[in-house]
Amino acid sequence: MSVFVTGATGFLGKHVVKECLDKNYTVIAAARNQEKGDALVKQFNNPNLSAVSIGDLEKLDAFDETFKNHGKDIKYVIHCASPAKWDIDSYEKDLLIPARNGVRGILESIKKYASDSVENVVMTSSFMTIPDFSKMGDSSITFNEDSWNPTTWETCQTDPLNAYAGSKTFAEQEAWKFYKENKDAVKFKFSTVLPSYIFGPQVFDADVHEHLNASNETINQIIHATKMEDIQPLSTQFCSVKDVAKVHVLALEQENLSGKRLFVTSGAFDVQDILNHLNADFSQLKGKIPVGTPSKGIENNPPGAVIENKRTRELLEFPLKSLKQCVDDVTEQVLRHEGKL
Ligand code: NAP
Repeated sequence: MSVFVTGATGFLGKHVVKECLDKNYTVIAAARNQEKGDALVKQFNNPNLSAVSIGDLEKLDAFDETFKNHGKDIKYVIHCASPAKWDIDSYEKDLLIPARNGVRGILESIKKYASDSVENVVMTSSFMTIPDFSKMGDSSITFNEDSWNPTTWETCQTDPLNAYAGSKTFAEQEAWKFYKENKDAVKFKFSTVLPSYIFGPQVFDADVHEHLNASNETINQIIHATKMEDIQPLSTQFCSVKDVAKVHVLALEQENLSGKRLFVTSGAFDVQDILNHLNADFSQLKGKIPVGTPSKGIENNPPGAVIENKRTRELLEFPLKSLKQCVDDVTEQVLRHEGKL
């Protein structure tokens, strides 16, 4: 019996595939097209991995062929695929519709063709589905696994980040609604993983390019900055890609994780904290990257609303990686790629 992983060609998806293969699962990876699927299979070079082509997520029948042909062999599904980029032309076409249709499509396909074989479905959601961003400055408010971003389809379409937050919120709400309405028609258990900003190395050094995926590009930009003006301000929550991949697979395996929104976050950071770790840990960057104002980091004293994931941490029973570990992991890989380590 196999694990079907969507978004398998992406930054997180490759870590999820690796975690599954490391645990001896047979994996069927979904790729946008055959070429990307073949490249993934070649890169992993593991007989337990195969790939199928699904086309674009916006097509509601994108997963029909897969579940028609392989459904009886699929026991677990990890749905990672969703647009995670900001250089877009249309909020609806490039973010909102593929995110929502992707989850609606995969759940309908399972119901139609694999309702007896699929036992567990885990969906990648996001921290962005949790807070009311207009209240982030209010230190009397706590956001946790019970909180929902109150955005609407119309109000989220102001800028790419808000639209992305909307895309993840509506996709996750769609999934829980489907699950509630179809509990008797399918046998699978369901849970969601809500990572904050994900940092970490690429599974393969060959995937390190001048620009990295959207979240790691924050660290990459700081590694190559010579003055503060080169660095785009950013202050949010972070987590490690290795922790996030591990939680996806644990959620398939552990009964106590099903039915839950698993909020994976290690804590708060801003770009000053990344500078502090880089200046402390990498002598080859000292004097090249800015120092900023080290005391202005927020890692140990985050302002504003309280963001907490106590319940998820208790369920997971393993410590989540620190900012230093995440920053060091990414930087070592980038510097190695550039011959500077
Ligand atoms: P990524 O590297 O861009 O991976 C996204 C994956 O989804 C890729 O395999 C991509 O395929 C696929 N995909 C996206 N849009 C698609 C479409 N319209 N049709 C078919 N396939 C499509 O991004 P990532 O950072 O790994 O994100 C993976 C998941 O984690 C997403 O659900 C994202 O929302 C979530 N997440 C990410 C972060 C973060 O900080 N990175 C934080 C929280 C949640 P192609 O390779 O063909 O484009």
